[in-house]
Amino acid sequence: MNFSELTIKSMADKVRRGEIKARALVEESLTRSKKSQPVLNAFITICENEALKSADRVDSLVSQKKDPGLLAGVPLAIKDLLLTKGIRTTAASKILDNFVAPYSSTVTNKLEAAGAVIVGKTNLDEFAMGASNENSAYGPVKNPWDLTRVPGGSSGGSAAVVAARITPGSIGTDTGGSIREPASFCGITGIKPTYGRVSRYGVVAFASSLDQVGPMTRTVEDSAIILEVISGKDRHDSTTAQIAVPPFSKNIFDSVKGLKIGLPKEYFVDGIDTEVRKAVENGIEILKSLGAQIVHISLPHTSYGIAVYYLIAPCEASSNLARYDGVRFGHRSKENKDILDLYCQSRGEGFGPEPKRRIMLGTYALSSGYYDAYYKKACQVRRLIRDDFVKAFQTCDVIAAPVATTPAFKLGEKSSDPLQMYLNDIFTLGPSLAGIPALSLNCGFTKNGLPVGLQLMASHFQEEKIINSAHALEKTINLENRQPHGF
Ligand code: GLN
Repeated sequence: MNFSELTIKSMADKVRRGEIKARALVEESLTRSKKSQPVLNAFITICENEALKSADRVDSLVSQKKDPGLLAGVPLAIKDLLLTKGIRTTAASKILDNFVAPYSSTVTNKLEAAGAVIVGKTNLDEFAMGASNENSAYGPVKNPWDLTRVPGGSSGGSAAVVAARITPGSIGTDTGGSIREPASFCGITGIKPTYGRVSRYGVVAFASSLDQVGPMTRTVEDSAIILEVISGKDRHDSTTAQIAVPPFSKNIFDSVKGLKIGLPKEYFVDGIDTEVRKAVENGIEILKSLGAQIVHISLPHTSYGIAVYYLIAPCEASSNLARYDGVRFGHRSKENKDILDLYCQSRGEGFGPEPKRRIMLGTYALSSGYYDAYYKKACQVRRLIRDDFVKAFQTCDVIAAPVATTPAFKLGEKSSDPLQMYLNDIFTLGPSLAGIPALSLNCGFTKNGLPVGLQLMASHFQEEKIINSAHALEKTINLENRQPHGF
């Protein structure tokens, strides 16, 4: 078995046909997980026993001639922000160190019902707040393409394990870019679905009006398979939409003939790394040569994205994080005089610097007298950003843009300056604020061998359009089998 080359599709097909045992796949993935851990630090928890048990369950279904599902025996890693019953979920925070949830997230349940085997919980920025994975209480993750660089964040562990061929796919979450930016930095595919496509039930909440769960894989088809499995209305999450889930992987096709691709002038500005620009433009040229038609568009409120997001996300975070009080679950300080002191000490000891910063910003912006000037105003401008996209999609089917202005940056390069880190999100925040689906696909490498992502966006619930155009481009550009050295 050449594990590194197998896709999710091929693994599941082989398991279902009885050509390979789920146990063999899972054992290989576990070996790789453990071996890579001292190098990459991509996992917070590796669940060896549970994984082997699940693999055996899949194998026994196969031997009974029962269908184990679309993800039969496929080893997957999931971001340690999704609850897993019986396995600890930390959100990469000391405040949830050793927290074992009494129930699983809907996404976890759906993956397991489709036969997937969870081999581990991946490292992330604490509470998904960050863009480099350096804000984790469990240490940073290294980029498999260059160990001196960040893998991106906040789903840094999920991106690194896929790039390093530890699992063929993983689950990330994206609030303002946390699937797309690490996918770009690690040279893989990641999809942030439309807000409301995938259930947030059992996902540790960061900014509830923005959070979405999505797939991270090597191939576009594999992302389509996972997306198909995890999507859909969930009675436990009232923000999930009652909209039919297309069989994304079955409907996948290669043609972009006649597809109108919009290039927003605000996303092709000075300040983008020249090699990033070249790779992105090359991807767009290929789409053009395949029959797509380029149209030039404008998203005039783009420049407000950072200010709007960095008000709305901290406001919602300050509210969501209020539940960690040291009383019901999570870290409880031993040194305290009274109940107020218990709250203060527990939160002071449990939260790292980035959540603290955002709680303070958010609480301030929500406080009486400031609410109208900050949170409410930000929500109004968010609407304008959304309207820009709705209008743009009247003249094009898909929007193409860079994911980030640079390839993966060096560990420590931005970690001392939160504003520099926030600015990094300039191209991913718009689609998040608008609630539209967006994908990152590897479209090239820099001279130093660092991957570069192309971002494709579509109108609400039109994931098929970005999946199909990415699939067409992937088939021509042929980068999905390029592998980092040593993995
Ligand atoms: N980098 C952004 C932030 O720090 C986005 C994070 C995310 O999408 N979870 O908030």
